Amino acid sequence: MIKVSDVVIIGGGIIGISIAYHLAKSGCSNVVVLEKEDLIGAGSTSKGAGGIRQQFSTEINIRLSMESVKIFERFADEMGCEEVFYQNGYLFLLSTEEEMKSFKKNVELQRDLGLEVDILSPDEMRAMIPFINTEDILGVTFCRSDGYADIDGVLQGFAREAKRLGVKIYLKTEVEGIEVENGRVCKVRTRRGDIETHTVINAGGPYSAIIGKMVGIDLPITPFKRQIFVTEPLDFIPDSMPMIIDFHTKFYCRKESGGLLMGGGEKKESSGFDTNVDWGVLESLVEKGIHRIPGIKDARIKKGWAGLYSITLDFNPILGKVPHVEGFVCAVGFSGHGFMHSPIVGKLISELIIDGEASTIDISPLSINRFEDKDRIIPEENVI
Ligand SMILES: Cc1cc2nc3c(=O)[nH]c(=O)nc-3n(C[C@H](O)[C@H](O)[C@H](O)COP(=O)(O)OP(=O)(O)OC[C@H]3O[C@@H](n4cnc5c(N)ncnc54)[C@H](O)[C@@H]3O)c2cc1C
Repeated sequence: MIKVSDVVIIGGGIIGISIAYHLAKSGCSNVVVLEKEDLIGAGSTSKGAGGIRQQFSTEINIRLSMESVKIFERFADEMGCEEVFYQNGYLFLLSTEEEMKSFKKNVELQRDLGLEVDILSPDEMRAMIPFINTEDILGVTFCRSDGYADIDGVLQGFAREAKRLGVKIYLKTEVEGIEVENGRVCKVRTRRGDIETHTVINAGGPYSAIIGKMVGIDLPITPFKRQIFVTEPLDFIPDSMPMIIDFHTKFYCRKESGGLLMGGGEKKESSGFDTNVDWGVLESLVEKGIHRIPGIKDARIKKGWAGLYSITLDFNPILGKVPHVEGFVCAVGFSGHGFMHSPIVGKLISELIIDGEASTIDISPLSINRFEDKDRIIPEENVI
C-alpha cells in the first residue's frame, strides 16, 4: 500500500468516490480512497432508490440539486458510458391545505432560483398517470427535469475515471485512527499500514461520527434504518412513470425492473447500524401503496433491503473544514439526499481542497459551526 498521499478519503461510497474523481479531474491525482468493505458502494450507496430531485424547501438544497442535475445530464458523455439518468420527473402529491401552502411557497423559491416546476390539479395528474387514485389529493407539484439514475452506473463511472486519472482505491482497508500533530492531521492508520498525509476527508456515511471521534470531534450524525421493497413486474406501469412521493404518508415509488420500487413512510425507529430487513413494516407500506395505486393489490413482493440514512439535526449535510483540526474535511450527514447531491459535493470539496474555498456554491450554510448558533439552522422540510 502507498505510504504517502496528498489526500486520503475515508469511505468508498458515492460521496468519497465522487470527491476522488473531481479532485483527480482538477489535477490533484495523488489521492487515496480507503474502504473497509470488499466493494465500493457497499454502504448506504447501494441501498438507495436512486432518486434525483430539485424540489426542496431550502435554497442550499435546491442549488445543490440543480448543479448536480447538470452533471447527471452530461454524465454519460463525460464518462463515455451508457445513459444512467432517467429524467422522468418527480411528483409530490399533497393532501392537506397546509401541505399545499408550504409547497406553493417552496415552488416560489424554486422558480426564483430558475427551476421549472408546475403545480397540477389532480385531474391533470390523472391525465398523465391514469392508474393513480387521486380521491384525497388536493394538488401536485411536478418538476420534469427531476428523475432517477442507475446508482451502480454512476458509482462505477466516477470510480473508473478516477482510477484512470491516478486515484488509488484500497478495499478491505478500515481506518482505525488518525494522528494529529500540532493541530494538523499527519497520518491515517489502517490495519494494512499507515499513510502520511496532510488532508483527510471524512466520507464515512453512517460511520462518520466514529471517524470524527478519531480527531476528537463530535459530529451530530445519527444512523437510521430505511427500507425498500420491489414487486414482481407489473404490465400497467409505463417506462415513463415519474417518481411519486405521497407527501402526507411519505410513501414513494417508481418503476424498477418492470415492477414497482416502494419505500418511505416508516415510523422513526431507534437509531443504530442494524441493516437486517424488518418485514414487519411491509404490511403498512403496501397498504399505503394500494391506496395510491390500487392496481398493485395482487402484486407479489420480489425483494426487499435495508440501509442507513445519516441524519443531522436539520436534515442537511455537514460540508467543509472543522475548527481546531487543520486538514480534516467533512462530507457527511446526507440524510436521504446523498446520491442526488454526490456530483456537486465532489466538485465543491475538490474546489475547497485545491483552491481553498468552494466557489460553485457557497457552502458556509453547511458548516459544522451552524450547530452552535440556532439562528443559522434552517431545517429542510421536504424530507422523506
Ligand atoms: C433506503 C434508502 C433510500 C435512499 N434513497 C435515496 C434516493 O432516492 N436519493 C438519494 O439521493 N439518496 C438516497 N438515499 C441516501 C443515499 O443512499 C446516501 O445519502 C448516500 O449513499 C451516502 O453516500 P456516502 O458515500 O456518504 O455513504 P456510504 O455509501 O455509506 O459510504 C460510506 C463508506 O464509508 C465506509 N467506511 C466507514 N467507516 C470506515 C472506516 N473507518 N474505514 C474505511 N471505510 C469506512 C463504509 O464502509 C461505506 O462504504 C437512500 C438511502 C437509503 C438507506
